[in-house]
Amino acid sequence: MQKVLITGAAGFLGSHLCDRFIKEGFHVIGMDNLITGTLKNIEHLFKLKHFEFYHHDVTKFVHVPGALDYILHFASPASPIDYLKIPIQTLKVGSLGTHNLLGLAKEKNARILIASTSEVYGDPLVHPQSEDYYGNVNAIGPRGVYDEAKRFQESITMAYHTYHGLETRIARIFNTYGPRMRLNDGRVVPAFIGQALRGEDLTIFGNGLQTRSFCYVDDLVEGIYRLLFSDYVYPINIGNPDEIRIKDFAEEIVKLTETNQKVIYKPLPVDDPLQRQPDIGKAKEILDWQPKTRRSEGMKLTLDYFRGFSEEELQKSEHRDFLKK
Ligand code: NAD
Ligand code: UDP
Repeated sequence: MQKVLITGAAGFLGSHLCDRFIKEGFHVIGMDNLITGTLKNIEHLFKLKHFEFYHHDVTKFVHVPGALDYILHFASPASPIDYLKIPIQTLKVGSLGTHNLLGLAKEKNARILIASTSEVYGDPLVHPQSEDYYGNVNAIGPRGVYDEAKRFQESITMAYHTYHGLETRIARIFNTYGPRMRLNDGRVVPAFIGQALRGEDLTIFGNGLQTRSFCYVDDLVEGIYRLLFSDYVYPINIGNPDEIRIKDFAEEIVKLTETNQKVIYKPLPVDDPLQRQPDIGKAKEILDWQPKTRRSEGMKLTLDYFRGFSEEELQKSEHRDFLKK
């Protein structure tokens, strides 16, 4: 039986990856320090013989006994509000954490896939973003702690490939959404849904003309799975090119939730990218992958998940924004 280590296992994407690898017949070791994740996301796996969980901070030396075939490094705060609150931990997990996991992969002769991000393109001057665009990142701005950690992560991963011959894969993940996002993680999907369900106005940052392209989690997981088992070592965009302005997205959520909430405008956070859309030509060609889930469908599934929260949980998770940190 093949063994895979998944870091960030108690988070949004990590928990879905654990499910997928269990389903595919792997022995899964989940690792997480629970800084932005929750055991609730994986509690259904604890009863399984082929799932283990290590409560561990990957910025400290990582030890896993026995053989290991694959590592998926997904540990890192991912919401701008989270990484603004814990900037040093964000820098450390992308740099020291990645170094530890590359070292472990080398020791075990395992293949490693790292979760990079569209944030390596910063506030992009090229649209849509293809992998050969070097990006426009402000290293010392509030997002710099995340963006530069991820850029370093890509760089050290390529160096381990080049100098040690390690089997590496790099996924540049664009905005992904779905069940198990934290209701108050501050990212726009749970933020808008939470506001609508609590009967609050939806807060649009800036004029709402900035765009994002949202990918449903099941599609993302499929893309990651295909990338891991491909032989492509360079960064590859995984995301859904269906682009939408944030103000139009807010209207979609109001309609979807049938809440009639108003939208209100708040200042745009510093360095908030104006536009973001993946060019997925490479993923299509190399992985024969493209997203299948339309936003209307994925958002319905996501809303169903958030409707499962009790009124008390909903009210407790007040909206977080950059102004009231
Ligand atoms: P998340 O916050 O839900 O999950 C991250 C998990 O990592 C959490 O469970 C957290 O506790 C854990 N973690 C953080 N630091 C750790 C450490 N030092 N040691 C061990 N565990 C640690 O976020 P997510 O959306 O699931 O993102 C997962 C990964 O995917 C991240 O690397 C993120 O940068 C990347 N990514 C996500 C998106 C997206 O839209 N969701 C987009 C681009 C990239
Ligand atoms: N956003 C917003 N209102 C919110 C939360 C986010 O208008 O309550 C905007 C945010 O400014 C950004 C977009 O939605 O332009 C996506 O934000 P998110 O935090 O989800 O991720 P990002 O793509 O910026 O990393």
